[in-house]
Formats: sequence, structure tokens, C-alpha cells
Amino acid sequence: MATLTRRGFLTTMTAGGGVAAVSALGFDLAQAYQVRQTLRIAGTTQSHSVCPYCAVGCALIAYTRKEPDGTVKLLQIEGDPDSPITEGRLCPKGATSMQLATSTRRVEKPLYRAPGATAWKEVSWDFMLDKIAQNIKATRDRTFVTTDAAGNPVNRCEGFAFAGGAAFSSEEGYFATKVMRGLGAVYLEQQARV
Ligand code: SF4
Repeated sequence: MATLTRRGFLTTMTAGGGVAAVSALGFDLAQAYQVRQTLRIAGTTQSHSVCPYCAVGCALIAYTRKEPDGTVKLLQIEGDPDSPITEGRLCPKGATSMQLATSTRRVEKPLYRAPGATAWKEVSWDFMLDKIAQNIKATRDRTFVTTDAAGNPVNRCEGFAFAGGAAFSSEEGYFATKVMRGLGAVYLEQQARV
């Protein structure tokens, strides 16, 4: 029996084979697909990309349209069915990647809540980077361990941990590991493993 791909299935349905879909799924898939084409991605530019969330690198298609005022509007992001690796599949995180660009809840500036404070306040990147550096220095000074219980030299810092972003490139991961090991950090993790 011939194998029917996802794209082939949809194409077949659009071409008039929708009767089976109506009876099997309870609605006219061909019509639904046609409506989607008409309303959301008709006339758009398709840009092929990869999901930024983790190193699996699933393939995406971003659909954009140029508006009359010259701006480019992002209309849709979905898995690329033509990718021979992921065949259009995305995990739940990747399936929501459009929210990276469009979510009104996305935090775009550093937020800081001082010790004892009940509210977060917007601060500058300079303030935040200085604050992180000061806290790392103070924590390292306070928690650095030179020898273990048996008297063996260990020279490690047990007071903070580091979690790398899943979108790190190899070079960023290498650099972050070097910096953290240089500070004596022993607890290094990676977002994709959390
Ligand atoms: S986050 Fe999910 S969709 Fe994105 S690359 Fe990783 S596995 Fe693929």
C-alpha cells in the first residue's frame, strides 16, 4: 500500500478527495484547508528558518506580508513539511514560536526586584549587568571552597549555578563554560536538559 505524506494528504483533500475526510473526521478538511489558505497565508512571503528554542533545530516557515505602509507583518509560523528531518513537526514550545515576536507578555527590558521589595521595576541593562557582576563576586567570595573535608584541594564555588540558553551556539556554550569553570562553578546546566 502506498504511503501518503501529510502534504500529499492535504493536497489530495484540496483536489476533491474530501469525502473521506468528512466521514472520518466529522468535518470537511479540504474546505478548512482552503479557508486557511485564503484568510491567513494567501499572497504571503514564505521564509524558511529554524526554531530558535533548542539545538534540535526543527525547520520552520514564517509567513509575512508587506503592509501598505511598508512595514512587514508576521502572520504565521509553522513547521516546514518539506524538511526531510522534521517533516513539519514541532514540539509544543516550537509550535508557539510566533509568540516570540507577537506576544504582548514578552519581557523586553530587564526587571529588578530589590531584596524585600514587593514589585518589579524596569532598570537599564547597565544597572542589571553591574548588579549580576556584583552578586557573582560577593557570592563567590562568600562560598568559595579551597579544600574538601579530607583536606584535598578543590578550589570550587558552590554558591551559584549557571544555566545556558538552549539557543546557544557551540561557541557561546564553549565561552560560557570557560567563564563559569574559571570562576570555580561546578553546577552547570543547559536549558534543553531542564
Ligand atoms: S524547541 Fe521543539 S520545535 Fe524547537 S527545535 Fe527544539 S524540539 Fe524542535
